[in-house]
Amino acid sequence: MPKKKNSQTALMHSEYTAPTGFDAFPVAIHHASTVLFKNVAAMRARDWQEKSGYTYGLHGTPTSFTLEARLAEIEGGRYCLLAPSGLAAITMIDLALLKSGDDVLLPDNVYNPNRELGNWLDRDFGISARYYDPLIGAGITGLIQPNTRLIWTEAPGSVSMEVPDIPAICAAAHAKGALVAIDNTWSAGLALRAFDLGIDIVMQALTKYQSGGSDILMGAVITRDPVLNQKLQTAHMRLGFGVGMDDAYLVLRSLPTMKLRFEAHDAAARTVAAWLKQRPEISRVLHPAFSDCPGHEIWQRDFTGAGGLFSVLFDARYSEEQTDRFVDSLKLFKIGYSWGGANSLCVPYRIQGMRKNWQDQGILVRFNIGLEDPQDLIADIEQAFAAM
Ligand SMILES: *Cc1c(COP(=O)(O)O)cnc(C)c1O
Repeated sequence: MPKKKNSQTALMHSEYTAPTGFDAFPVAIHHASTVLFKNVAAMRARDWQEKSGYTYGLHGTPTSFTLEARLAEIEGGRYCLLAPSGLAAITMIDLALLKSGDDVLLPDNVYNPNRELGNWLDRDFGISARYYDPLIGAGITGLIQPNTRLIWTEAPGSVSMEVPDIPAICAAAHAKGALVAIDNTWSAGLALRAFDLGIDIVMQALTKYQSGGSDILMGAVITRDPVLNQKLQTAHMRLGFGVGMDDAYLVLRSLPTMKLRFEAHDAAARTVAAWLKQRPEISRVLHPAFSDCPGHEIWQRDFTGAGGLFSVLFDARYSEEQTDRFVDSLKLFKIGYSWGGANSLCVPYRIQGMRKNWQDQGILVRFNIGLEDPQDLIADIEQAFAAM
């Protein structure tokens, strides 16, 4: 018998180890800040950048490594880094690749916090951030300067929904030595094979379809090139980005149903959008699968599906007061940011103030079509039109 420990020590140290060989479908949740090493030599030999072992909780545990590997596989990439939000993933990309004196190009319809980050880098960090027409295509070559390091794309822009010509932008960028990143959240990595179109860096807001529960904030950055991955890993380390393993587990738990959910969102969104298309209150349906949407032909060429998120433009005869009343009158649709969860959402945007050359005078309203029955959602919209 080993010498009996004092009770406090016995609470912490035990000879018992559970038998190995346990196997089940769920990925185990490994919590850790401190990671233990067998001996000093093992501690000294371990490199945090090589994901063949564990060094410190911030750099991952088997739970987060597994999630990273699955996300990389979905996108057709090799490397993946997790960040505490989608926006943190965007920040990591910018700080990994840009330094003072550099230039970054962003689409004029980019996710607004990404634009705000660009403005901040431009104002306070000596990096110029310039905005291009999302439908510019090959014409972007005329904007690329010798110091342009990074070009952001978003497919489609998640408010006004224009679909960019990714292969044309990538070809122009690569010809002049710039990298291209995509915010691929709308397609969940399922409906757009971004790397196959030439993209260097894929960003995902896992907050949306990967989580699927409106309950988690997380982001991912996925790459194929080892040198690029190393730069991103350094930024990830410098920024101290970690994720909670309970959250990583919940995303892992949601992934098996993501394609089924995505296809259900897609089908329901097209049903609702088709109904809206024939309504006199609506002047345009900004859904990439509909011909009203700028870049619709590009969507047809490059995408294999559509998400549940789209926008409409109300006829210009409706005032903001009326469209606000429309949104307030909805019952199944709730008012709130984000999307990709089970519940339908609706948000009005003041698009005219957000964009440089926006022509249309109608009010823009964005719908996230959830998993409710689309006929019930249509009935809800119909009664809100009447209330408007
Ligand atoms: C939500 C979203 C993000 C940011 O994700 P968070 O986890 O909310 O920070 C980035 N891009 C797009 C297109 C999004 O919809």
